Amino acid sequence: MGYVDEVIERVIAKNPGEPEFHQAVKEVLESLRPVVEANEALYRREALLERITEPDRQIKFRVPWVDDKGQVQVNTGYRVQFNNAIGPYKGGLRLHPSVNVGIIKFLGFEQIFKNSLTSLPIGGGKGGSDFDPKGKSDREVMAFCQSFMNELYKYIGADEDVPAGDIGTGAREIGYMFGQYKKIRGVYEGVLTGKGLSYGGSLARTEATGYGLLYLTEEMLKCNGKDIAGKTIAVSGAGNVAIYAIQKAQQLGGKPVTCSDSTGWIYDPEGIDVALLKEVKEVKRARLTEYAAARPSAVYHEGKGVWTVKCDIALPCATQNELDLDDAKALVANGCFAVAEGANMPTTLEATKYLQENKVLFAPGKAANAGGVATSALEMSQNSERLSWSFEEVDAKLKGIMVNIFHNLDDAAKKYGHEGDYVVGANIAGFEKVATAMLAQGVC
Ligand code: NDP
Repeated sequence: MGYVDEVIERVIAKNPGEPEFHQAVKEVLESLRPVVEANEALYRREALLERITEPDRQIKFRVPWVDDKGQVQVNTGYRVQFNNAIGPYKGGLRLHPSVNVGIIKFLGFEQIFKNSLTSLPIGGGKGGSDFDPKGKSDREVMAFCQSFMNELYKYIGADEDVPAGDIGTGAREIGYMFGQYKKIRGVYEGVLTGKGLSYGGSLARTEATGYGLLYLTEEMLKCNGKDIAGKTIAVSGAGNVAIYAIQKAQQLGGKPVTCSDSTGWIYDPEGIDVALLKEVKEVKRARLTEYAAARPSAVYHEGKGVWTVKCDIALPCATQNELDLDDAKALVANGCFAVAEGANMPTTLEATKYLQENKVLFAPGKAANAGGVATSALEMSQNSERLSWSFEEVDAKLKGIMVNIFHNLDDAAKKYGHEGDYVVGANIAGFEKVATAMLAQGVC
């Protein structure tokens, strides 16, 4: 058995009941085969793959808080600090009932390579809780966030570990957590990113993941003789990533016609009305039925179905494993020629394989959605300088980073004989830098 297969087996045996983590490790390690085979003796002696698949540490803690009825509630908090070979741990905090240690580990593991791809000095980490902010009052969300930070503060810091937002963690939650960190530690530092503009946040951070997704997609299409202008685009999700992906797609002349949330989806053949979507999701925090009620051209469907719509480009921007083999078959049958992942691991392994076999251009999330973390790293730079940059300056840097990421992964894929396979390219380009740093730093 080869080294890659041995390590995959070992990870599965050592981390039972964590299918998402197994999936992420498999996807990454299998695509690293060309590099691993070229360096097998060295990597084996240094146990490089065993080390890179084992988090530096996993922190799990109790988060008690009091709800509006005076009832004490208990959630579980997590922070997985995966790898800091190239910089402080960096990665978001997910607040969603589905959160468990396996999901946080899969996200933290992917984050190592994504952060490396940005070419900025940030390591990989991820955290969160099974707390659901949906339906909670602001006071309850604050009570949860303060209790969460009462434990998390021990492990984070501007040069140590810098968490950010993710599903369920937006500006409101980051604000409450930042306030509590400052109160406990008595220091004002860039310990979290995604902060409000009045206290150290960066312009363009809100837009960054969605905009970055489109910048990378645009470059990928350009290098393959195609263009976004005039194309019909299917988008899933209706959160931060989806909203700004839709906005930038429209600015580039594309026509996004769908969006979705966890209960249903919208088909709007006239093109999604971004202002209305923002009003429903960002201001009212309401369901998509409200979008359909206010927009005569839109049809609302219960459940899942975005990928059945005829489109040229698909942008999954909701959550992991939301685009499976049947969805991939429907996309190919409808003539879709490009899929770029706004969410983390939204496409199953089988679906990815099918899309690639059918010559669909496929940009994996760790490259395509890296604009968020890249702009978080720009927020860290601004905090360290105690300066803030203009929207245009940050946006221009973001665009440069995304174009650069695409060329790095394109080059890596070509270098190892996998031209056009951007999954292999992204994993190799992200891995090589981290591997070099780990080897240089010795056994630690
Ligand atoms: P949000 O919480 O803002 O939005 C998530 C959206 O996806 C919501 O519309 C939500 O619906 C929907 N959704 C969540 N879970 C499910 C589910 N199980 N089934 C169907 N729909 C679901 O999160 P973001 O937009 O920030 O994140 C979306 C994805 O992008 C995640 O995978 C995240 O890890 C990834 N990502 C985010 C970055 C960022 O900067 N925000 C950076 C890089 C990656 P509902 O409103 O009903 O909950």
